[in-house]
Amino acid sequence: MMSQKEMKKYHEKTIAELSTMLQAGEVTSVELTQYFLNRIKAHDGRLNSFITVTEELALAAAKDADAAIKNGTAGPLTGVPIAHKDIFCTQGVRTSCGSKMLDNFISPYDATVVTKMKQAGVVMLGKTNMDEFAMGSSNETSFYGAVKNPWNTDTVPGGSSGGSAAAVAARLAPAATGTDTGGSIRQPASMCGITGIKPTYGRVSRYGMIAFASSLDQAGPMGQSAHDCALLLNAMAGFDEKDSTCLDMEVPDYTAELDKPLKGLRIGLPKEYFGEGLNVDVEKVIRAALDEYKKLGAELVDIELPNSGLSVPVYYVVAPAECSANLSRFDGVRYGYRCENPVDLMDLYTRSRGEGFGAEVKRRIMVGTYALSSGYYDAYYLKSQQLRHKISDDFKNAFEKVDVIMGPTAPDTAFNIGEKSDDPISMYLSDIYTIAVNLAGLPGMSVPAGFVNGKPVGLQIAGNYFKESQLLNVAHQYQLHTDWHRAIPEAFV
Ligand code: GLN
Repeated sequence: MMSQKEMKKYHEKTIAELSTMLQAGEVTSVELTQYFLNRIKAHDGRLNSFITVTEELALAAAKDADAAIKNGTAGPLTGVPIAHKDIFCTQGVRTSCGSKMLDNFISPYDATVVTKMKQAGVVMLGKTNMDEFAMGSSNETSFYGAVKNPWNTDTVPGGSSGGSAAAVAARLAPAATGTDTGGSIRQPASMCGITGIKPTYGRVSRYGMIAFASSLDQAGPMGQSAHDCALLLNAMAGFDEKDSTCLDMEVPDYTAELDKPLKGLRIGLPKEYFGEGLNVDVEKVIRAALDEYKKLGAELVDIELPNSGLSVPVYYVVAPAECSANLSRFDGVRYGYRCENPVDLMDLYTRSRGEGFGAEVKRRIMVGTYALSSGYYDAYYLKSQQLRHKISDDFKNAFEKVDVIMGPTAPDTAFNIGEKSDDPISMYLSDIYTIAVNLAGLPGMSVPAGFVNGKPVGLQIAGNYFKESQLLNVAHQYQLHTDWHRAIPEAFV
């Protein structure tokens, strides 16, 4: 028999478990919401994972959820509290995107992801910290300061969804939303020891999700387990006429295939993901995870992704080019930061942008503007689009031989805060295994697979287009046999 005190440890529960407790009346959404708000108050001073906490709104939404549970209109996520990355527009609530540029921006509307979550009865606890405009791999570019990794507060949580990852890892929220343009769900999930999935491009609406690189950006859930990610993706995915790149395809029940046995599953191991640059101890953790899959009946197949070496350089042309166009809307005129006492319109533009954007964002805008300028367009942007096709073709060929592709999510564990701040190239390389998946528009996951010196290591699982159910199944079966995903950092138990 559990003591009363132990039973109150709601933060040890997954969403699937909390949902059962809510439906059974063992806890109310108001109690649960208050519990997590209290945890944020008690612990976030050490992490800085939230930019805004929406206490009043959360408690009001929780009350509504409790009423829905009482009158029998509740769904599986009704009353479950989560956090949203501050890249998603939230009506009436500051939506900063981690930037001084939007520090004063109260969104007049909700992103589709936020609307869908509300419709599912989810309670928003607040908005999580992130790299400025989602540009970064460490959460250090945020206007609101660096986020600390709950496993070791000297280290970064990864980025750009570092606030979401840290909040979930420290169990200040049972789950959170994230976005992934080049790895920003998977890399922080890996560094914080949580589970995250970036769906196929077009699976989740980008409406109201502040654009970074429109042909790469995709939203997804970050949670404790694959089962939780499946429940959240059920609510997030689906067609939206407000996003022209959102696909009009039926949304399956992502929990339906979780229990499928893995016997006969063909796992591709790209030789490029196990070569130079990979920390040997991280490799050992990944090899041990692969052994586990062998025990579950999977077959390991060596494959090649010969163009994967091009993915970081291609990405750092495509993403800055698209961001330079997307961020041109922040001009100090209609919304966002405006400089003081502009002398004329040009002064207003240049000083508002000069003062409102941080260094990394400016670097990207300059690179992107250069790559798109006349005379250079063919040499850089067009060329990178051609190479992007080659990268996609590598995956196409691979998926003729294998069902999923596995490897490390990142070449190393979390690095120290400040360690790579002056070396953008070395920072960019922390996404070396994740970026190709975005360039090809494929779905990818990161699953906790162990630790090196007390720091989490994530296993990346990539799949073919719209195979989210299969990825979640493959991750769930592993999680039934391991408990890395249930580990909570010592300082936050
Ligand atoms: N770290 C990569 C970048 O800085 C990816 C970011 C992301 O996925 N949003 O662009």
